[in-house]
Amino acid sequence: MTIEFSGIAVSTGIAIGEALTLRRDSVDVSERALNKKETTAEVRRLKRALKTARAQLLAVRDSIPKDAPTDVSAFIETHILMLDDSFFSERTITIIKTEQINAEAALHRQMQELARAFDAMEDRNLATRIDDVRHVIDSVLRALDVDESHVGISDFSMGGDHWSGRIVVADDLTPADTVAMQHHGVAGFVTESGGPLSHTAILARSLGLPAIVGVHGARRYIKTGETVAIDGVNGMMYAETTEALLVDLRNEQKRLRQETRDLKKLIDTESTTTDGVELSLMANIDIEEDIKALKRVNAAGVGLYRTEFLYLNRETTPTEAEHLRVYQRVLRALKGAPLTIRTIDLGADKNLPGVTDTGNRPTDSNPALGLRGIRLSLSEPSLFTPQLRAIFRASAKGPVRALLPMLTNMEEIRQSQQLIAQVKESLRSEGLDFDENLPIGGMIEVPAAALIADQFAEELDFLSIGTNDLIQYTLAIDRVDDQVNYLYEPIHASVLRLIKQVIDAGQSAGKPVALCGEMAGDTRYARLLLGLGLTEFSMPPSLLLQVKRSLVTCKRSKLRKQALAFLDASSREERQALLERINA
Ligand code: PEP
Ligand code: MG
Repeated sequence: MTIEFSGIAVSTGIAIGEALTLRRDSVDVSERALNKKETTAEVRRLKRALKTARAQLLAVRDSIPKDAPTDVSAFIETHILMLDDSFFSERTITIIKTEQINAEAALHRQMQELARAFDAMEDRNLATRIDDVRHVIDSVLRALDVDESHVGISDFSMGGDHWSGRIVVADDLTPADTVAMQHHGVAGFVTESGGPLSHTAILARSLGLPAIVGVHGARRYIKTGETVAIDGVNGMMYAETTEALLVDLRNEQKRLRQETRDLKKLIDTESTTTDGVELSLMANIDIEEDIKALKRVNAAGVGLYRTEFLYLNRETTPTEAEHLRVYQRVLRALKGAPLTIRTIDLGADKNLPGVTDTGNRPTDSNPALGLRGIRLSLSEPSLFTPQLRAIFRASAKGPVRALLPMLTNMEEIRQSQQLIAQVKESLRSEGLDFDENLPIGGMIEVPAAALIADQFAEELDFLSIGTNDLIQYTLAIDRVDDQVNYLYEPIHASVLRLIKQVIDAGQSAGKPVALCGEMAGDTRYARLLLGLGLTEFSMPPSLLLQVKRSLVTCKRSKLRKQALAFLDASSREERQALLERINA
């Protein structure tokens, strides 16, 4: 009988192999009192351990395969930088000297102090970065432990065949471990702790190593040497697997590998339907680093750059110069492909301390309907103007388009245009270069905007449909509330009618219309949207090739009638049946 364990899927793929269960006994961090003389020797011991830990990390960094995505070394560099940070070593040395205790206990104290500080952070993403601190401190503790009987990066770095083809089952793994494991041919890994946002998880995805995390008690049940299988798509681990399940998993593994190979073949092919309709398949990016993923799939450019991420995780708002530097770097990386910069969409679920959720304003009771997106930008020109100036200045270096979020009426467009006219005027008077014809577009994210898209299309250079919000506001379901998730239906006739209306309005006015919500990256809906007349899609880069495959293998002229039938479908069942037909 197969035993099933469920966890969190963090890196796709299926791996089957012998388990290698790592038991890292924790290093003894109990406190030992020292006399004054002993503290001097203890500080020397700590410094030696810091050096050893650093050398181990450098060895790992040097073992990173040349073709690995560059962000892999960035993770290891971060740990090396932390070790090099004088605050890190000096604070520990101070604790040793003033408290007159051993290095292990001093490091443990520092860890606790930092954990408290991270725990108090409001930003949960940032709070999970305590994992990095823990991993760095752990590497020093292990280096201090001269009778090393633990498994860690040093063991991975030793190399040897015993890692190859194995599935590592551990309590937790560091990013350095992950790189070393891949280097030695480990087939996949399972950890008891960790989350999908941890660096280890991100790295596993980058390195293409199947992985699941959060499998509590895994090491209690899995013995080294027994055969296990992990399904990184569904977050499952199987032990004592029946032959029938193994056969199924092997077939699925073959299918996934073949699919990855097939999809890669599409990277350089034209984005055109079989009847010659040209498509524009663009990428959504949230941070500068996402450009690497965009390049890997050869996207036509950036259809949505969510710049509000530049404002999060920091105490001050970015300056014009900071905006400009980032946009210029992104443009350089794009090498002539267009960059659509959406002006900040702060508010609602993307709060900015001191601007959108504190200060003199009472906390909004309904933030999704409150001062967010363009409303906030227009109410705080001191926030908006530096970004607009940077967008225009960046346009001197490459093709830039500006995109305004959360528009609901024509006045917001006109006010933005006025502000833009002022920005252009002052840039001219300062003698700064910019694209005089920089296209200004608007997001269609609320039903009000979709219903007057014809008016918007007259005034703007292009439109981009944000279905994430459009669905939320049309169906009255909070996009972050799990309880009403069951009502989320991108192909609800109301939503599709609005989308169709926007596409038609763009066509009548001769203005391009794109769709950049998550729906654009969902293969189930690609042909339906094409049938409704959409040709410009912008989506997370990881989904682009699948959407491309669905679109370039079909004939647009055949889809129109099928797509229009969705607009009159009056039940979920009917819509599902239509969906199966259009994708057949
Ligand atoms: C959308 O609403 O569909 C969209 C693309 O914007 P965001 O997801 O950033 O709100
Ligand atoms: Mg939105």
